[in-house]
Amino acid sequence: MPRRNTRNEERRDKMELPIHRKKTCRFCADKQLRIDYKDAKALKPFITERDRIAPSRITGLCAYHQRRVTEAIKRARIVGIVPFSAIQRQTI
Ligand SMILES: [Zn+2]
Repeated sequence: MPRRNTRNEERRDKMELPIHRKKTCRFCADKQLRIDYKDAKALKPFITERDRIAPSRITGLCAYHQRRVTEAIKRARIVGIVPFSAIQRQTI
Protein backbone atom coordinates (compact mmCIF):
# COMPACT_ATOMS: atom_id res chain seq x y z
CA MET A 1 0.00 0.00 0.00
CA PRO A 2 1.50 3.38 -1.08
CA ARG A 3 2.21 5.80 1.66
CA ARG A 4 0.02 8.87 1.50
CA ASN A 5 1.44 12.25 2.25
CA THR A 6 0.15 13.71 5.41
CA ARG A 7 -1.60 17.04 5.27
CA ASN A 8 1.39 18.83 6.73
CA GLU A 9 3.76 17.45 4.12
CA GLU A 10 1.49 18.51 1.28
CA ARG A 11 1.12 21.99 2.49
CA ARG A 12 3.89 24.29 1.35
CA ASP A 13 4.79 27.22 3.50
CA LYS A 14 3.81 30.28 1.58
CA MET A 15 6.68 32.71 1.57
CA GLU A 16 5.27 36.09 2.33
CA LEU A 17 7.71 38.53 0.85
CA PRO A 18 7.11 42.17 1.52
CA ILE A 19 6.22 44.11 -1.61
CA HIS A 20 7.25 47.43 -0.15
CA ARG A 21 10.76 47.50 1.20
CA LYS A 22 11.11 50.20 3.80
CA LYS A 23 13.51 52.81 2.53
CA THR A 24 15.79 54.26 5.12
CA CYS A 25 17.26 57.71 4.92
CA ARG A 26 20.88 57.29 3.84
CA PHE A 27 22.00 60.33 5.79
CA CYS A 28 20.38 59.06 8.99
CA ALA A 29 21.89 55.61 8.41
CA ASP A 30 25.39 56.95 7.83
CA LYS A 31 26.22 59.87 10.11
CA GLN A 32 29.48 60.52 8.29
CA LEU A 33 27.69 61.41 5.05
CA ARG A 34 27.58 65.16 4.64
CA ILE A 35 25.35 67.24 2.41
CA ASP A 36 27.66 69.60 0.56
CA TYR A 37 26.34 72.06 -2.01
CA LYS A 38 29.80 72.34 -3.57
CA ASP A 39 29.81 68.64 -4.44
CA ALA A 40 27.67 68.39 -7.58
CA LYS A 41 28.42 64.70 -7.99
CA ALA A 42 27.04 63.92 -4.52
CA LEU A 43 23.82 65.80 -5.32
CA LYS A 44 23.29 63.86 -8.56
CA PRO A 45 21.09 61.06 -7.08
CA PHE A 46 18.64 63.67 -5.79
CA ILE A 47 18.10 65.31 -9.16
CA THR A 48 15.88 63.84 -11.87
CA GLU A 49 16.92 63.59 -15.51
CA ARG A 50 14.90 66.74 -16.20
CA ASP A 51 17.03 68.45 -13.56
CA ARG A 52 14.24 68.73 -11.03
CA ILE A 53 14.70 68.00 -7.35
CA ALA A 54 13.55 64.43 -6.77
CA PRO A 55 10.73 64.01 -4.21
CA SER A 56 11.41 62.18 -0.97
CA ARG A 57 9.33 59.19 -2.08
CA ILE A 58 11.99 58.70 -4.77
CA THR A 59 15.05 59.64 -2.76
CA GLY A 60 13.86 57.82 0.38
CA LEU A 61 15.15 60.59 2.61
CA CYS A 62 13.52 61.72 5.81
CA ALA A 63 11.85 65.12 5.89
CA TYR A 64 14.78 66.75 7.65
CA HIS A 65 17.42 65.55 5.22
CA GLN A 66 15.19 66.09 2.19
CA ARG A 67 15.00 69.73 3.25
CA ARG A 68 18.76 69.93 3.65
CA VAL A 69 19.34 68.35 0.23
CA THR A 70 16.80 70.69 -1.40
CA GLU A 71 18.60 73.66 0.10
CA ALA A 72 21.97 72.32 -1.09
CA ILE A 73 20.67 71.84 -4.66
CA LYS A 74 19.28 75.38 -4.74
CA ARG A 75 22.60 76.74 -3.51
CA ALA A 76 24.46 74.66 -6.11
CA ARG A 77 22.18 76.09 -8.82
CA ILE A 78 23.02 79.64 -7.81
CA VAL A 79 26.72 78.81 -7.75
CA GLY A 80 26.27 77.31 -11.21
CA ILE A 81 27.35 73.70 -10.76
CA VAL A 82 23.83 72.23 -11.00
CA PRO A 83 21.48 73.29 -13.84
CA PHE A 84 18.12 74.93 -13.09
CA SER A 85 16.28 73.09 -15.87
CA ALA A 86 16.83 70.71 -18.76
CA ILE A 87 15.81 73.48 -21.20
CA GLN A 88 18.54 75.70 -19.85
CA ARG A 89 21.10 72.95 -20.42
CA GLN A 90 20.06 72.58 -24.07
CA THR A 91 20.42 76.28 -24.88
CA ILE A 92 23.88 76.66 -23.38
ZN1 LIG B 1 17.52 61.55 7.51
